Amino acid sequence: MSGRTTFPDVTLAEQRPLTTTQLPDTPDLQDSNHVQGGTATHFKDTVVILEKPQRSLHAGFFVSKARGIFFLVCALLVLTIFVIFTAFVTREFCTKEKTSGVSSSLKNSTPSVALAASKTEEPSRPALDHPFNGLRLPRSLIPSHYDLELKIDLKTSRFSGSCNITLHVNTSTRYVVFHRSQLEINESLVIVRSSTNHFWSVVKHNHVTANQFHVLELDRDLPAGLTFKVEVGRFTGTVRDDLKGLYKSSYKTPDGKIEHLVSSQLQSTDARQVFPCFDEPDFKATFTISIVHHKGYLAFSNMPVVGSVSLGSNWTRDNFNITPVMSTYILAFVIGRFKSRNASVVVPGGGKYEIKVWARPDAYAQTEHALDFAVKTFKFFTEYFGILDTVPKYDHVAVPDFSGGAMENWGLIIYRETALLYDPLVSSSSNKYMVTLIVAHEIAHIWFGNMATMRWWDDLWLNEGFASSLMYIAMDHVYPEWNVFAIQVVEDIFPVMVKDALVTSHSVSTEIRNPEEIQQFFDMISYNKGMAVLRMLRHFIGPDNFRKGLQLYVRRFMYKNADMAELWQAFTDAVKEQHVIGEIMDTWTRQMGYPMVSVEDRGGMFHLSQTRFLLHDNGSQHNISDSPYGYKWIIPFTYVTQTDPDTSQLTWLNMDSANIPKKSKGWLLGNYEYQGFYRVMYEKPMWAKLADQLLRDHTVFPEASRAGLIGDSFSFSRANLLDYDVTLNLTRYLKKDMSYVPWRAFLDSMEFLRGMIAAEGAYVHLEGYLRNLVAPVFDTVVVSAQGTLPERYLRRVILSIACEVGLEKAVKYAKSMFSNWMKFDNRLPADLSLPVYSVGVREGGVEEWEFVWNKSQTTTVASEREMMMEALAQTQKPFLLWRYINFIFVPEKIKLQDVRVVMAYFTKTLLARMVSLQFLQSHWDEMNEEFGDDGFVMREVIQEVTTYVNSEYELQNLERLFHDRPLKSASKATENALELIRANIDWKRLNYKKISDWLQNNLT
Ligand SMILES: [Zn+2]
Repeated sequence: MSGRTTFPDVTLAEQRPLTTTQLPDTPDLQDSNHVQGGTATHFKDTVVILEKPQRSLHAGFFVSKARGIFFLVCALLVLTIFVIFTAFVTREFCTKEKTSGVSSSLKNSTPSVALAASKTEEPSRPALDHPFNGLRLPRSLIPSHYDLELKIDLKTSRFSGSCNITLHVNTSTRYVVFHRSQLEINESLVIVRSSTNHFWSVVKHNHVTANQFHVLELDRDLPAGLTFKVEVGRFTGTVRDDLKGLYKSSYKTPDGKIEHLVSSQLQSTDARQVFPCFDEPDFKATFTISIVHHKGYLAFSNMPVVGSVSLGSNWTRDNFNITPVMSTYILAFVIGRFKSRNASVVVPGGGKYEIKVWARPDAYAQTEHALDFAVKTFKFFTEYFGILDTVPKYDHVAVPDFSGGAMENWGLIIYRETALLYDPLVSSSSNKYMVTLIVAHEIAHIWFGNMATMRWWDDLWLNEGFASSLMYIAMDHVYPEWNVFAIQVVEDIFPVMVKDALVTSHSVSTEIRNPEEIQQFFDMISYNKGMAVLRMLRHFIGPDNFRKGLQLYVRRFMYKNADMAELWQAFTDAVKEQHVIGEIMDTWTRQMGYPMVSVEDRGGMFHLSQTRFLLHDNGSQHNISDSPYGYKWIIPFTYVTQTDPDTSQLTWLNMDSANIPKKSKGWLLGNYEYQGFYRVMYEKPMWAKLADQLLRDHTVFPEASRAGLIGDSFSFSRANLLDYDVTLNLTRYLKKDMSYVPWRAFLDSMEFLRGMIAAEGAYVHLEGYLRNLVAPVFDTVVVSAQGTLPERYLRRVILSIACEVGLEKAVKYAKSMFSNWMKFDNRLPADLSLPVYSVGVREGGVEEWEFVWNKSQTTTVASEREMMMEALAQTQKPFLLWRYINFIFVPEKIKLQDVRVVMAYFTKTLLARMVSLQFLQSHWDEMNEEFGDDGFVMREVIQEVTTYVNSEYELQNLERLFHDRPLKSASKATENALELIRANIDWKRLNYKKISDWLQNNLT
């Protein structure tokens, strides 16, 4: 999955309730006389054709006529017994111990179903001697195949289905434990039988809600070695509106009509909301899926449709081909009206694949880039891994509502619109970059995640870190001119280094203690730190060995699961045991944080030593015994020297210290091209030499190294380890640097400084310094309208910062473009739209704000809408900010998927930050109620809103709030926020004066 939402879709389309005129009527089920063909079961020993069942009075529930009569007789009999019993027994009858006794009277009825099986009321905890107390399912039964039929009703937002699961008995047991959540199961229609038609009675159903388990207690043991089936004849559920499981979405057509659709998001643990299943990643199985849906809509699942059957006048059933062996979390279902752009791909080795990019029909024109890149990337990865995919088609579908960036469901990748759609005339190059990145990420998952899967969610990072790492390799292959490995440093690695420098971080590989925790670990640490440590691995073993290791790993674990040790072993084998990769990498993945390497000049040599880097080390929270490695790392330390600036050298810093011979008096620059996940600290004279080199000729250092010097020094200063005058001196050369990557590192670093002193007197000097720095770059880059992607990136960030700090000619330039757009509808240069909208709104009033708001409601390009939504939060009229922020509770104005993003827009100006902080406190309960179930939303909202809070008064308010009224989930978010605020307070006390003095001395 990609969690990225940097370019979210903020659709303001109204979401009216469904009306009966928009959809075909619910079918009269009695008219449905379709006879289902014989069903081949998937027993290992033999294939049995079951008797042909007929559709019963209930859709999605198949039962033979003879058995139906039998059920009816049994039901009446049991009902009678039940009525007689209830007349005599006490309330204790309802406890499970008692009920099992009653049910035992039916034990020997064969064939039988559990008509008399009693149900323990929810919520319940099983007795300790039961084999289903843990977080995980027992391993006594292993599923191998599912026959799943879903009937999804867009009109009523309900679905029903049937599911037959073929299982192998690993160890003898009388319990069948599977997952089920938010589903109603018709317990009278649950059958357990072997391939030779031996039946087991279900004597009791137990719904263990705490673990989302459904437990069938059988009348006798299932013997080890047996293959058998559990048939769940009918279950029902609700199509949700919270972007989980099977959920509703909608869009407005150009003629104003609301079109409804259903999409799915099953990762991590929501397959169990759609059908009863063994919902853990290592319970891999094959799936034969059918979807019954309204006529006139398209149904999608992981595999191609192999046949469609008309069911009366309103319904169709699509049958899909059997899937490869796969995990439940990458199953997917979509029903809707879309239009596609298609390509056929033949890859080396002879595989032929159909690749399609789908969008709502009026967004069809925006699908070209995604298809072109998807085709190239699919070919690239097939060759890179040397392994043919077994899924013959890929549907990449853009849905108007999606919680993350995209989801890699095998054969049916689902995206939020801004992650797949790109309009070259309107969308910015950063939108194009994001689409490219996410498409590459999801395609990489085919091999890394779908074919070879982590065994359990504590190694989630194996999937996400590798997909994130591989996406850059594919992008670099398709667009070498983008220099993506340098962009990766500033966009993905620096942000996670901030998070991982807090004592509240977590290790990449983390023990999951309960199901709620799984969602919390879909965070930047799993994705970006995972990616960063793999970038380091790739660098020190070399790209060819990295590829060999991946190939070995995927081949060894194809259609299986693996853990981290098995992955490292594949790399150790790839490098022919030159390194024991696990020993090195475990220090990076099994402890949180990362090192700062200090370089000391000791006469004839440079002495290297390491300590953990913490942004806020108050001494009491950092206990080295918390880590199995005592917060020491095995570091591949790379460096270049002034005498040989182009040859990177490597020395290993094994847990303790190392020495490098000093060959000349010049500078030494560590972590060349920022390939390693560590920071480098120098002594003051060395910082001065590096600053001099930058001023003399900055091109001696590659872009990523320049960005590294800026990023590291600002981080050290923020952590009170380096005086700000040293750091700010390094930035004076930027007047001459016309590259995006170092500028981005600088502006991101300055964001903290600007945020922290925005309400202080020195801010005026800070703006002055920035104006001086940016003016010559503005003159050089903004006039040009063409260029490579990084050049276009630079143009946008330079215009933005120039306008924000009030560079007069820049503001004038942007304002005139805004007014021409407003008056004459002149098209804006796509890359400059965001700064232009922002200036228009910031400098304007109600009229400008409402103009942009109205435009945002009518545009059909999601990325354009998103830029407008960002600009709207920059108004300097408090009442407009209050009006806007209250829209997060109005889904017709701000969709659930965009709440956290809109809140992030409120961090851009001091006024918006003040409003959002006050809003968070005054609407805490409402927000917790509305969004608290989703770890993602509240975590990011809290993080965004509290980023620059730096007063004791606010800290106390928030401490009280978080303590008295805790979050429903994402509790780590509040801890993290409070730690950051405490650090902010210390920072301001220690640094404000020094910064203020430096700025006054360096204004010219
Ligand atoms: Zn992913």
